[in-house]
Amino acid sequence: MVVSVDFSEEQAAFGQYVRDFAVTRLGPGALRRAHEPGYAWDSATMLAGQHLLGLTIPEADGGQGATLVEAVIAIQEIARVCPKSGDVIQAGNFGAVRTFAEYASPDLKAKYLPDLLAGRTLLGLGMSEPEAGSAVTDLRTTATAHGADYVLNGSKVFSTNSPDATAFLVYVRFGPGVGGIGSVLVDRDAPGLTIGTPADFISGEQWSQLYFDDCRIPGSHVVLGPGGFKKQISSFNVERIGNAARALALGQLAFGLAKDYAETRQQFGRALCEFQGLQWKFADMAVKLDAAELLLYRAAAHAATGLPDAYETAVAKLAANNAGFEVSSDALQVLGALGYGTDTLAGYCMLRTRGWMIAGGSIEMLKNRIAECVFDRRFSQRAPVAAP
Ligand SMILES: Cc1cc2nc3c(=O)[nH]c(=O)nc-3n(C[C@H](O)[C@H](O)[C@H](O)COP(=O)(O)OP(=O)(O)OC[C@H]3O[C@@H](n4cnc5c(N)ncnc54)[C@H](O)[C@@H]3O)c2cc1C
Repeated sequence: MVVSVDFSEEQAAFGQYVRDFAVTRLGPGALRRAHEPGYAWDSATMLAGQHLLGLTIPEADGGQGATLVEAVIAIQEIARVCPKSGDVIQAGNFGAVRTFAEYASPDLKAKYLPDLLAGRTLLGLGMSEPEAGSAVTDLRTTATAHGADYVLNGSKVFSTNSPDATAFLVYVRFGPGVGGIGSVLVDRDAPGLTIGTPADFISGEQWSQLYFDDCRIPGSHVVLGPGGFKKQISSFNVERIGNAARALALGQLAFGLAKDYAETRQQFGRALCEFQGLQWKFADMAVKLDAAELLLYRAAAHAATGLPDAYETAVAKLAANNAGFEVSSDALQVLGALGYGTDTLAGYCMLRTRGWMIAGGSIEMLKNRIAECVFDRRFSQRAPVAAP
């Protein structure tokens, strides 16, 4: 399929370089990695060796100082060939690491970023709680000052990569209300942090509940103190762009598998692509993917080296989440029973893209956010308080 975005010469060459690397080095292990539950540490080593972690992190902090467009090109090219390696690009560029690089103190960055960007360590994000999912500001995990330390109490659920992460960026409550929320860095072996038995998502990904029972961390591990929530959510838009880019990439991957199959598989004495019922399916798929791609690159291009706009990010994620899932589901249908098996990546793409419609701002919450921008006013989702 023709890429629908105009890149500069350098960006096009970078994309070609990443694509070639993905096809030759990551393609052969893509199916195996997809069906292994853990983090793809082997890919992390290879991708760090190609300087593809920390792309948008400033050179002064050990990153590449590139724009969000280059990071999106990288994640799309890698995920389109090897979805699990795309998750590594997410963790090393778009996830908690970006928030950490944006707001942590110079000392904390100097201590953690070198290993994170070398693919030797991994940062998870502890935001969701059993009673605080979409309503994230209801989070209850507390951070209380004790001398020079902070003591954490509470619990986090659903954290991506939690069985493998070496440290977590944890959203905590220093005090009441939205203004009391900030974030801290917690090592996996911090005293008082217990990591639960891994649970399975239907995609085969695993997550472990995090339990903080008088978990003690040094005061220097505060990344954002009280009042940091707005900043956290602004940088979380980068995470959403990575989520959208992978959803799009997996839709494109499944589309490619289905297209190749439709050109070669014969039924009723003719290739599948000669049936109009399937031609129209492919036309619909192409439109969904192209539209999502344009919206994704709009958000990335406007961000340049900064943080993406909330509206453009929400629109891009919504379009890419829907396109990724709908296209991979249709692609699986084109592949027939073969697509329903585990010998192709189509079913895997469908399950992963389904999860991203919930993760990182569900499609319903994205629509709420978009509507607020449309009407330029805030619509509280809270139940009205009864009049006295
Ligand atoms: C694959 C995956 C990876 C994840 N990774 C992480 C991670 O790394 N770190 C982390 O902290 N969390 C992670 N999460 C958790 C994710 O952030 C939450 O699942 C998400 O915020 C939704 O919360 P919930 O699942 O509790 O659903 P709920 O908030 O209980 O919502 C249930 C349903 O109601 C809808 N809904 C809720 N409120 C509204 C509203 N006001 N208007 C309309 N619809 C509404 C939701 O969209 C959803 O469909 C991950 C989840 C998944 C699936």
